[in-house]
This record gives sequence, C-alpha cells and structure tokens, in this order.
Amino acid sequence: MKSLKVFAPATVANISCGFDVLGCCLNGVGDEMLISLSDTPGVRITKIDGADLPLETDKNVAGVAVVALLKELKDTTTGIEIEIYKKIKAGSGIGSSAASSAGAVWATNELLNNPFTATQLVKFAMEGERLASGNAHADNVAPALLGGFTLVRSYNPLDVLKLNTPEDLYMTIIHPQIEVKTADSRKVVKPNVSLKKAITQWGNLGGFIAGLYTNDYDLLGRSLEDVIIEPMRSILIPKFEEVKTTAIENGALGAGISGSGPSIFALSKGKENANKVAKAIEAIYTTTGIAFDIHVASINANGVTAI
Ligand code: ADP
Repeated sequence: MKSLKVFAPATVANISCGFDVLGCCLNGVGDEMLISLSDTPGVRITKIDGADLPLETDKNVAGVAVVALLKELKDTTTGIEIEIYKKIKAGSGIGSSAASSAGAVWATNELLNNPFTATQLVKFAMEGERLASGNAHADNVAPALLGGFTLVRSYNPLDVLKLNTPEDLYMTIIHPQIEVKTADSRKVVKPNVSLKKAITQWGNLGGFIAGLYTNDYDLLGRSLEDVIIEPMRSILIPKFEEVKTTAIENGALGAGISGSGPSIFALSKGKENANKVAKAIEAIYTTTGIAFDIHVASINANGVTAI
C-alpha cells in the first residue's frame, strides 16, 4: 500500500485587518496525517488520535475535502485511507479543521502524481471548511496549502495569492482552552459596515501587504488594526484587551484575534521579542484559572509537507 505521512500546519487567519482574506502558516504547530492508497474504492477515515472527531467520511473535513478532489477528477476507482494525529484542538482558532482538509488533499494529490497545483487544491480544502463552519472560507486553507502569507483576492471567481514573507517575523499564540466554534463567532458579526470603518480597514490591509513586500516591520505594526470585527468578537475572549496591550508594551508589532478565536496572536520582529511577549501574556492568563497553551512560531514558507 503506497502511503504518505504529512505535517499539516496550523494557520492564523484574518490577522486583524484581513477578515476572510488574509492568513499565514506556522512552523512547528500542527497535526500529522498518514494518507494511503487502498484497493477498495472510496474515502475512509481509519484512525483519529488526540481528538474526539467523527470518523464518518461525510462528517470529517478531511474526508469531505478528498471526496471533492476525486469528484473533480471523475475518479470512482481510487481508494484513500486517512489517519489523523491531532495536535491542534478543534475550535482553537488556529485552523484545526483547515489543517486536516489541507493535509488530506495535499497528500492525496501527491499519491495521485500531482494532477493539481497547490493553488488548485484550495477549492477542495474549502469544502472541508464549509462542513466545519457552514462557510467555505479559504483564509486558513490557502496558507496551509501554499505556505507563508496568503491573500484571497476574490472568492468568486476564486483567486488566491501567495504574498512575500519577511524573514524575521514570529507569531506568539495563546490558546485559552475554551471552545469558540467558528459558526458561533460568525453569529456576532453584523453584516453591514460603515464607509468610515471600511476606509480604515482597507487602508490597513493595503499597508500590511506593502509592509510584507518592503520588509517594513513598523508599517506592519501600524497596519495591525481591526475596526470592524475585533470590537464585536473580542468580548468572547477573556482578558483580550489586557493581552493585546501587554503584548504591544512588550515589543510586539501588534496583536489581535486569531481566526475566529479564542486564540490571540501577537506578531513580533525576531524570536527573542516573540518569547518575551509569550512570557508577559502567560503571566496574565495564569491569574484567570483558565487552562491555556502558548506557542511561539516562525512563519512556515512551505505549507503542508511530507515528513
Ligand atoms: P478551527 O478554527 O480551529 O478549525 P472550527 O470551529 O472552524 O475550528 O472547526 C472545528 C469544527 O470542525 C468542529 O465542529 C469539528 O467537529 C469539525 N471537524 C470535522 N472534522 C474535523 C477535523 N478533521 N479536524 C478538526 N475539526 C473537524
């Protein structure tokens, strides 16, 4: 049986100014998966370790994403078996569902001798996101598949771009272990935006992308502002304001909600700064009695990789 073991990376979506369009991929934080070809046609989840998630193909994002890929190929004979070794918890806000969808389609594509490019795989992985949150968003699956920072320039038609990644950027992520489902945190987001706020937001998004291409860390920091989503969602996250302020006081370029939360990210220049930020925010959360994890990660330029 031909199989492939992959690292399926965690990702930070939205990054303050880019709701539903901006994301980045992390090194060292993520799941492992083993994907195998089988003589029995169809897609099966044969093992899930580390999380209580559905084994049924149509209820697991990895299964749904691979079914979408095989459907596009009109392939009714290939058999795929998926083992998932979960290290990132569902509902953490660092792309747990996206890691499974992206890892599964990337490995299947490799096992089938690459009928699709990594960019073309995004739409299949998005079907997994549709199952997880009711909305086929691409801001986690795009960075998980392409690596680095990515922009969803358009959803219809789908147009996903890989952006430049300055070398010395690090993410500090705190994950309070309270579950905020993407579907629930979408409910607090109001559908209408004032022109004034929209102008601030697209100025920041443009600034952030310019900063990525000019390696201008101060510009990245100035652009890490979210006047639309953060004020509505941050109320769901204990100590959000204190963590954000403390991160910036301790040298972070900026901080915000990772994906739909409850994880909070802080972006820093250099590993030393990112570690200092980790210590400072850890001190805040220790006082809450809420269990939490903290990760310091550099930006993963490659996305899903064979291990
Ligand atoms: P995250 O932002 O961390 O991915 P979501 O709330 O978007 O969290 O997605 C988690 C949801 O997706 C949960 O309801 C979970 O049961 C479902 N799900 C189905 N399959 C998987 C999988 N393989 N990995 C993670 N979550 C999955």
